[in-house]
Amino acid sequence: MKHYKTYIGGEWVETGQTINVIDKYTGETIGVVPRASEKDVDKAIAAAQEAFEEMKSMPAYKRSEILEKAANLIKERSEEIATMICREAGKAWKYSIGEVNRGYETFKFASEEAKRIHGETVPMDASMGGVGRVGYYIRVPMGVIGGITPFNFPLNLVAHKVAPAIASGNTVVLKPASTTPITALILAEILEEAGLPKGAFNVVIGPGGEIGEVIVKDYRVRKITFTGSAKVGDRITRLAGIKRVTLELGNNSATIIEKDADMDKAIPRCVDSAFANSGQVCISLQRIYVHKDIADEFTEKFAKATENLKVGNPVERDTDLGPMIDENEAKRAEEWIKEAINQGAQLVTGGTREGRVLKPTVLRNTTKDMRVMCMEVFAPIVSIVEYNTLEEAIQHVNDSDYGLQAGIYTNDIRKIHYAIDNLDVGGVMINDTSIFRVDHMPYGGNKMSGIGREGVRFAIEEMTNIKMVMINLN
Ligand code: NDP
Repeated sequence: MKHYKTYIGGEWVETGQTINVIDKYTGETIGVVPRASEKDVDKAIAAAQEAFEEMKSMPAYKRSEILEKAANLIKERSEEIATMICREAGKAWKYSIGEVNRGYETFKFASEEAKRIHGETVPMDASMGGVGRVGYYIRVPMGVIGGITPFNFPLNLVAHKVAPAIASGNTVVLKPASTTPITALILAEILEEAGLPKGAFNVVIGPGGEIGEVIVKDYRVRKITFTGSAKVGDRITRLAGIKRVTLELGNNSATIIEKDADMDKAIPRCVDSAFANSGQVCISLQRIYVHKDIADEFTEKFAKATENLKVGNPVERDTDLGPMIDENEAKRAEEWIKEAINQGAQLVTGGTREGRVLKPTVLRNTTKDMRVMCMEVFAPIVSIVEYNTLEEAIQHVNDSDYGLQAGIYTNDIRKIHYAIDNLDVGGVMINDTSIFRVDHMPYGGNKMSGIGREGVRFAIEEMTNIKMVMINLN
């Protein structure tokens, strides 16, 4: 067990109080990290504000170099970081190493994007009042950015806040989830070694309702970038005051399986999409709408593939899914399954729990008002629902408070375009499920799934202000 220090103002510091971080499978304490007080948050914000003077004038090539070096250091330390994600988040090895590879790419994309942040010229003489004037705009960094991140991607969701912020010359105060803070401290070591100026990246660890809110309310913080639940996102919008807020929130993601779908491709992909990281992914597949003519065959094959998954210790290389983040969450999910069954759902497979580990669970005959359908389940639970027409399936998908991503399996070009035009989501995945994401694409949701977009270039747009320049030649 290691005692960690946290990183504030370019120094490794203790705070007097601590938080124990446990291995989510074994329950063993794997690290002790400093718990920040309001005073520590204040120091971190002051340090970030001071460092902004240096960051805002750092040339693009230099910012790019630091990010590239950080990307390479992530790659060098990939085994160590993946093992930490396995243990502190309970994420199976294959997904943990996958997350590290994506974290590497996110930094790499940011190092490239740092070199192409620019505005455009404005044809001033399009207005009678603009004749004889030259106009253009540039993009400038905002200042201190407050990043607040969830437990389920301790590296890559932190990377999605930190890398674009550095690329665009901002500074960051990060509050990672208290259950998974060690990966963020490893990232701080990497950024220090990569040559990031002191104070440009700071980590404060502690309960969101306490120190998260201190960051959100502080007037020196110019922007909040948050990934987490809709409930907390809603609270942040109310507390933030006049500052920009980007929210990446939840979903009860759906995928449609049309009659002509390639089942051999769709079924394994849907199984993976429902149960990766024990269903604790914002775009986890939760609702599968299957055309009635193929629903029995689909369900049978899907259940068989689900029963073949290896459930166990995430550090073992062949484990498919490990524990949930805590026992209360696993109990909550088990209760939702029981409630659905009492309301008439059929349990196809799974449904049992041991401590934090919930067996991958498949339900059928679920209806839209059941909690496993209409709320974000964030657990290894998926519902298979039959439909008659594509129009009806799309209405079901849209009948949700959320709108992050959705998928559809079909090769019919008319149906593909109908789905693209009518699904009310931030991303439509054709011949794939809701879970598809690579880190340079625009990513984010409609309705309660959030405000704004991430994906390095798009996050940079949200982390910069437009500055208009006019030169009067008259
Ligand atoms: P939470 O919303 O509970 O927590 C997210 C972060 O916010 C944590 O760091 C937490 O701190 C902090 N926090 C909690 N309360 C407050 C508050 N009042 N003010 C400021 N910060 C606060 O989410 P989870 O960690 O449980 O993550 C799961 C959620 O994240 C799901 O809803 C999921 O869909 C969503 N998510 C969305 C993604 C997207 O890109 N759209 C991607 C991944 C997840 P602490 O926990 O330390 O108290």
